[in-house]
Amino acid sequence: MKRLAIIGSTGSIGRQTLEVVKDLKNHKVVALSCGHNFSLFRKQLLEYKPDYAAAIRKTEELERDFPEITFFSGAEGIEEMLEAATPDVVVNGASGAIGLRYSLKALEVSRRLCLANKESLVCGGKLLIKRAVEKGAELIPVDSEHSAIFQLMRGKDKPEKIFITASGGALRDYSIEKMYNASLKEVLRHPTWSMGNRITIDSATMVNKGLEVIEAHYLFEYDEEDILTYICKNSLIHGGVIYSDGVIKMHLGKPDMKIPIAYALSYPKRGYHSDYMNIVEMSLMLEEIDYRKYPALELAREITGISSKQIAYNAADEIAVKYFEKGAIHFGEIFKLIKRVVELIPETDPRDFDEIVEIDRYSRELAEKEVAKL
Ligand code: MG
Repeated sequence: MKRLAIIGSTGSIGRQTLEVVKDLKNHKVVALSCGHNFSLFRKQLLEYKPDYAAAIRKTEELERDFPEITFFSGAEGIEEMLEAATPDVVVNGASGAIGLRYSLKALEVSRRLCLANKESLVCGGKLLIKRAVEKGAELIPVDSEHSAIFQLMRGKDKPEKIFITASGGALRDYSIEKMYNASLKEVLRHPTWSMGNRITIDSATMVNKGLEVIEAHYLFEYDEEDILTYICKNSLIHGGVIYSDGVIKMHLGKPDMKIPIAYALSYPKRGYHSDYMNIVEMSLMLEEIDYRKYPALELAREITGISSKQIAYNAADEIAVKYFEKGAIHFGEIFKLIKRVVELIPETDPRDFDEIVEIDRYSRELAEKEVAKL
């Protein structure tokens, strides 16, 4: 049995990880942490009976009702939980830049980090990769596109280029003008994947694909221009690799996050069971991405490898999405805000976690100020 800790157990990745674990049968859940959804967390604690639990906010009721579980609270508490639990595997499904902190701790205390928190690599790519190498821990991507590339790259011959796909999000058939004023309801109607709110909005702007290009740069060591992006409307092609002799390998499968989650857990084996699609019913089509419709992806490409701007890009998007969800800014203004904050943050290369946090904090402050000017 492998001892498993899940950060963000009540989120989309966390919930699906718990489902996958039931099928894999060789993982024991020893630690769970959640953000704010205490009613679901209570059910999870009851069902999985972990030895350790943590939440961002202190939860006296839960602590009273589960005296056999050791509780921790706050971001520091989540780190303490990981230290106490000494898991073999950590799934990091936290959202936001804070996730980097948990990723760094996971590489220290466990043998494998299954990474679903995008900000870990976007904000601290260099630091995280360095920590994984130092500690000899495995860093396995959970995101479907990166899992695809990871699976395709098992072997010695390095491809010339790699590619990842995007669905195009909920507004892909809108004109640029119509996109600008799209409502939250329209944006949340994702055509293929069922995911959390922020990532669904980020799919419509393609900020999500921008973050993924940056992640791929650190994970697989490619320059931005060798990481291609295409639209695959039905999300059946997740990614591919292209060799110098003209051979292209593609990774296909139904859009179901449980599959890459399970692979990250069971790698190098495949322990998960799922039915596969009838291949003759799969329409396999890739299309070019129009950057006039998705300027956020082009901007992400321009700043790939520049740490401070990557942090600013992510932070400004988090703030912009928050205001868009509240109905305070237009959909089209999300990009405007990100672009402005990215321009304002100077090019620097933070050396440690504290410097990353400081750039993140300053970027958020700038974003809040810029929202008021819109
Ligand atoms: Mg993805």
